[in-house]
Amino acid sequence: MIEEGSMVAPGDELAMAEELMAGFGTYQDGGIIRSSIMGKFKVDKKKLEAVVEPLPSMPIILKEGDVAICEVKQVMDAMVIVEILHLAGKDRGIAGERDGAIHVSNISDEYVSHPNTKYRIGDIIRAKVIKVDPLTQLSTTGKEFGVIKAFCTNCRNPLIKEGNSLQCPVCGKKEERKMADDYGMGNIDRVINNEN
Ligand SMILES: [Zn+2]
Repeated sequence: MIEEGSMVAPGDELAMAEELMAGFGTYQDGGIIRSSIMGKFKVDKKKLEAVVEPLPSMPIILKEGDVAICEVKQVMDAMVIVEILHLAGKDRGIAGERDGAIHVSNISDEYVSHPNTKYRIGDIIRAKVIKVDPLTQLSTTGKEFGVIKAFCTNCRNPLIKEGNSLQCPVCGKKEERKMADDYGMGNIDRVINNEN
């Protein structure tokens, strides 16, 4: 089970349904309690509930070089639209909705023919802010950036890393993503050195 006080992202597995009930910020998915929001995992010991508390939010001024945890909202022909959920290493949530775009040329160090070969709706990715004005633009080039959690497009279960690709443990579907080097490890607050 995940440690209390850990930062968790939407879809993260928190507990088994026989251990705890689904409280605020969580939902039950089969026998598993998962997080539905970004926040800190807590256990309400009186009610025996798993809870995810949102971080106290304040408007954050994004700046170039910030490392953002984002959810993929839309995959278009030349770009991916994401919602920024969290800034790595910041103990404040982001107030309001904050959208950003990743241009197809900024997805990977390798050539990407179409964004949907690397990212799908609902994926949780780590990206770097490369431009804030007039629109927030992000990049996932570099081994530390890319998907940190992805879901099966067939049955929505979290995909497991198998070598260089991802596989659904439930239906067996194999999928490809531009993965971060720590895919699946939940390092939401990993701060990347901006020197490179
Ligand atoms: Zn599946």
